[in-house]
Amino acid sequence: MRRTVLVLAVAVLSAPLPLQGQREGRGPFRPRPAEGRDPEVTPPTIREYKPRSTLVVPQHQVPRARFPVVDIHGHPPTLTGPDIVDRIVESMDPLNLRVIVQANGRSGPSLKQSVDAIRASRHPDRIVMFTTLDLRSVGPGAGRTLAAQLEADIRAGALGVGEIMKSFGLFFRKPDGSRLKLDDTELDAVWETAARLKIPVFIHVADPAEFFEPMDYKNERWLELSLFPDRRYQDRTRFPSFEELMAERDRMLLKHPNTVFVLAHLGWHGNDLARLGRLFDKHPNLYTEVGAVLYDIGRQPRTAHDFFVKYQDRILFGKDSYQPDEYPYYWRVFETNDEYFDYYRDYHAFWKLYGIGLPDAVLRKVYFANALRIMPGLQRAGFPAN
Ligand SMILES: [Zn+2]
Repeated sequence: MRRTVLVLAVAVLSAPLPLQGQREGRGPFRPRPAEGRDPEVTPPTIREYKPRSTLVVPQHQVPRARFPVVDIHGHPPTLTGPDIVDRIVESMDPLNLRVIVQANGRSGPSLKQSVDAIRASRHPDRIVMFTTLDLRSVGPGAGRTLAAQLEADIRAGALGVGEIMKSFGLFFRKPDGSRLKLDDTELDAVWETAARLKIPVFIHVADPAEFFEPMDYKNERWLELSLFPDRRYQDRTRFPSFEELMAERDRMLLKHPNTVFVLAHLGWHGNDLARLGRLFDKHPNLYTEVGAVLYDIGRQPRTAHDFFVKYQDRILFGKDSYQPDEYPYYWRVFETNDEYFDYYRDYHAFWKLYGIGLPDAVLRKVYFANALRIMPGLQRAGFPAN
């Protein structure tokens, strides 16, 4: 009996290949199973199709970060008084979010109001302010004025400058009508002042490269572009290209080797970490943070793990939009090796996330130690000693 089966199997395997469907020696051997068929039922839209995953693997929810965290990219509500400071801190505690930087930078009297609110609150060491720069009309002499204002704001209690928004590069024009480039010489005095004051410059340059590409069905950010018309930068008569902005940014970094620059959103190179690595290698003054780009980290767990280990001294934690219930997604990606779990924003990414399982030594640096190093004004209390 066994021999009969074996003989039959050999006969089947050695039977001459049917010619039907064979195409010039290349391509599929016979038509692919669903080729030429159309769905019998109207297909759902990409917003409707949310299949439940049937994958059964270990799950580790991480509601609270393993170590206290500094969020350098915070956008909590405006700090109009001590009560709002206390309310924000209450929402930070369950997450183990120790310090949040108010990256809606404020200057002059508005900065003073926020600093006063923090100092009068029950938690004067939990929220810190950055200042901002008004780059809407940078003409001759503006650099010196901005540098003086920067110095005054740092004296008034700001620990850094930012978030300098993407309008710088994409939108702002000079009084002569030309676009204000990132490496404009007028601003040299500002970046040099930041270097002298030893404060970080937190800057968001451009946007994901896909926002500059045609909005077709091959664009990874089609849904986001469709939801937010103001994120479409395809018109070259109105906007520079992504690479033009990167080139200006890189020249700015090169010109100011003593200024600490923190690029927001992994510099929009989360989809090409090798490129970001080359940037780190070239500019020892450069840092980055991970706000709103978790989808890129979580889709390449092995590459991202190795990248975080290699550049562990250069990466800071940042979240961007202040939604306390979204932080645990970050903790889970950084701290676990979980597989194929949901992300929180469908228009950033239609794929699932994987944990990158960072070792404690790296987590500590990303969560707080790098931030304490580049912002010496932060209170050490509440952080484990290294
Ligand atoms: Zn931001």
